[in-house]
Amino acid sequence: AELTLEGLVRNAASAYPVKDAFIDGDVHLTFSEFDRLVDVFAAVLRDRGVGPGDRVAGLLFNQWEFSLTYFATLRLGAVIVPLNHRLVASELAFQVKDAGVRVLVFAGEFAAVAHNLHQRGSADVWIVVPSAAGDHWDRDVEWGSFAPESLPELLDAYAGASPSVGSPVAAGDASAIWYTSGTTGRPKGAIVTHASTLWAASSLALTTRMNHHSRLLAVAPMFHRGPTDTMHIACFMLGATQTMLRSFSPTGLLKAIEDNRSTHAFIVPAMTFGVLGLPGRGDYDLTSMECWMSASAPLPVEYQGRMQEETTLPAGRFYNAYGITEALLIGTLLPEQMDRAPSVGRAVPMCRVQILDGERRALGPGEVGEIVVATPAMASGYVGHPEDWAAVTFERDGLAWYASGDLGYVDAEGYLYIVDRAKDMVISGGENVYSAEVEEVLVGAPGVAEVAVIGTPSEQWGEAVTAVIVLEEGADASVARVEEYCSGRLAGYKRPKVIRFVEALPRNSFGKVRKDQLRRDALGWRL
Ligand code: ATP
Repeated sequence: AELTLEGLVRNAASAYPVKDAFIDGDVHLTFSEFDRLVDVFAAVLRDRGVGPGDRVAGLLFNQWEFSLTYFATLRLGAVIVPLNHRLVASELAFQVKDAGVRVLVFAGEFAAVAHNLHQRGSADVWIVVPSAAGDHWDRDVEWGSFAPESLPELLDAYAGASPSVGSPVAAGDASAIWYTSGTTGRPKGAIVTHASTLWAASSLALTTRMNHHSRLLAVAPMFHRGPTDTMHIACFMLGATQTMLRSFSPTGLLKAIEDNRSTHAFIVPAMTFGVLGLPGRGDYDLTSMECWMSASAPLPVEYQGRMQEETTLPAGRFYNAYGITEALLIGTLLPEQMDRAPSVGRAVPMCRVQILDGERRALGPGEVGEIVVATPAMASGYVGHPEDWAAVTFERDGLAWYASGDLGYVDAEGYLYIVDRAKDMVISGGENVYSAEVEEVLVGAPGVAEVAVIGTPSEQWGEAVTAVIVLEEGADASVARVEEYCSGRLAGYKRPKVIRFVEALPRNSFGKVRKDQLRRDALGWRL
């Protein structure tokens, strides 16, 4: 039989039976206990009609029941659909229908949304994970025919279920449908296989030097493929313990690292910003950290240095990883390569990167074009939208490639640099201006906390380079001062023609700036 993802749980249970797989609040679960619960929950799902290819969705926090739902689904040859609990009911209803979800497992905290989805006719079977306080159920609300079963009660009732339900699954079968983070529009459901995820997790583990001593802090939302199909799976490959953190706060993150002596964490840039804005950020013991992996969006270079200067994060622990839902890890700048920042490093093991021009011809070192990747971690399609998948994939030199939509170049030594997302590049006065380059400069200006650069319609320039700035607390800055700061640092055509101060930038659930929204907002500004 081929090794599949749920098989990793079985392997870990035999190699590390009494070791903690999960620490989640007061709950400690060993690998063998967890493996047993996966069997039990698989039996529950099987009795509710779940079989190979069926879709089971989880609307859950980072909690051990997320992994339980993930692996129990896979053990039946079914497909897991992690849902983003920050979305509103209508957005979720779209995904549940799009993915053909039959069973929905949700955290009690999301009861109202689940009820709404139920009323819209989404899914057939409903299972609730009561909140720790047990008070998830608002008894005054009229729930009608919505009567979800309780996960703990089901696990009790099936405690004696046959340990092995026999999985008909193969490594090339679909394991999950992961929705992209929706930075550029409506999220797309990427279908991935067991094999692609096994490759992805192996590549991550090699790159970030994980081993059975590693202690993962699961802080980035697990409903995104980035953290889950990499570090979370690697823990089962290696027998490493993971601690679940339900939500992010700068203090909560630092305290959890200190309390758990965590070694690895997948961090999104907004979390690093949050930590660096926290008074007392130097008071927590982060010396156990081996890998602070920033991924999912550009991180200004100065923040890497500041993490080391202003917290107790030891030198040589900062990784900047470039990845995409559809291809997972592509490049990672390793701690010892930090002098190469803002490069996102060399291609990770098993991944090949090329830069192509508009006619899909290969470009040489230093030439900017679209970043395309060939990797065994690649998705196999978008659910329901083969035409969208065909538009971003192609064959070349006998390999299947994915076109990232990112613009970048590779230098003579193989380091990859992202210059911008193709959709974010501003064309001003006929010149290409990379928003990321302008942002990198502006974030260094006195008093500037965060910045996003977009193009706004302009009769004079076609598009005007527009900087949207959030100031540090108490800082006062003016348009004139920002302009002055830019003058010696950026060529004239790259300097912002419009500068606007705002309270906060619109961000998606991964903390990425929603430039599509900013561009829409900008149409309403008096420029
Ligand atoms: P959607 O496809 O729904 O618009 P999305 O593109 O944000 O959402 P993801 O797969 O979550 O979906 O994000 C991938 C993108 O994130 C990459 O194409 C790249 O633009 C950006 N990105 C990821 N990591 C980095 C990084 N380390 N530095 C800069 N950009 C990054």
